[in-house]
Amino acid sequence: MSQPLAPTARPRLALPDSIVPGQIRWVYAIPIVGIHLLALMALVPWFFSWTGLILMLVGVHFYGQAINLCYHRLLTHRSAKVPKWLERTFVVIALCCMEDTPGKWVAMHRYHHKHSDHESDPHTPMVAFLWAHVGWLLVRNRSTHTLESYRKYAPDVLRDRFYMNLEKSHAWVLIYVAHAVLYFLVGFAIGAASGGLAVGFQFGASLLVWGVFLRTVVVWHITWSVNSLTHLFGYSNYETDDCSRNNWFVALLTVGEGWHNNHHHDPVSASNQHRWWEIDVTYYQIKLLERLGLAWDVVPPKHVRDRRRRQVKEQARSDRHDATQG
Ligand SMILES: [Zn+2]
Ligand SMILES: [Zn+2]
Repeated sequence: MSQPLAPTARPRLALPDSIVPGQIRWVYAIPIVGIHLLALMALVPWFFSWTGLILMLVGVHFYGQAINLCYHRLLTHRSAKVPKWLERTFVVIALCCMEDTPGKWVAMHRYHHKHSDHESDPHTPMVAFLWAHVGWLLVRNRSTHTLESYRKYAPDVLRDRFYMNLEKSHAWVLIYVAHAVLYFLVGFAIGAASGGLAVGFQFGASLLVWGVFLRTVVVWHITWSVNSLTHLFGYSNYETDDCSRNNWFVALLTVGEGWHNNHHHDPVSASNQHRWWEIDVTYYQIKLLERLGLAWDVVPPKHVRDRRRRQVKEQARSDRHDATQG
């Protein structure tokens, strides 16, 4: 492991040539702007409830982990395997984050790893911070936003009929809307049972605004900060061919994804924890699933894989030696 490197200045990059200027992707822009506006209702005291606040905080972790653990580590990097029913459950929970279908998310992230911080990277902050954070989602990119690109970069995901159907239908919108309606209805029923219709309406609305809209926006910005902050600020353990950084703040928000330089150095590893204090809770959760018999083939860090490979080689050499002696 090399010593932390001083941040290297990289020249600013222009927008990728494949960007179609002025071609707004309304299917992204409308929900992103719309849900931000709806989340602003949290500033109105009438929409507040302690239950809503708690649901928001718990939800940031619960739904966010469907992105970190499932979309990123399980599906994109295949760092572990879980039963199909569990993987699909995680995907349904991830869809409640409105962060794309698994095929698109995986394809985009693999594209990022391949071209990281070079001109073709779909979301490098070497163009601009806001571009990496959210701008890239709002305009069409001829290279990445195509069926061929999804097929090329996520063929394994699209082979699954359930995930392919998500690409072909609008089920992902319905799942998001259905879970939002459920939050409201459960809140309404509890409130109405204890204090009448007006209380029910207020309580249901508070769960919707805090538990769904505000939580969605918070999870978005946490995910987006991996694309923006961890390619700009922090330290490096490794000299990688990009500007990835280990950023403790993002690591805290994402329970482990912020050790991004470690991740770019060894993307397939289920663990981003390369030093004892680089705590990676997402990895602990994968290990917990493994203990429960719900995960297997958990990929260890590179140094452990190398050590095991060396041990296997040494064992084979010693077996050969014994055979010739015998
Ligand atoms: Zn990255
Ligand atoms: Zn990755």
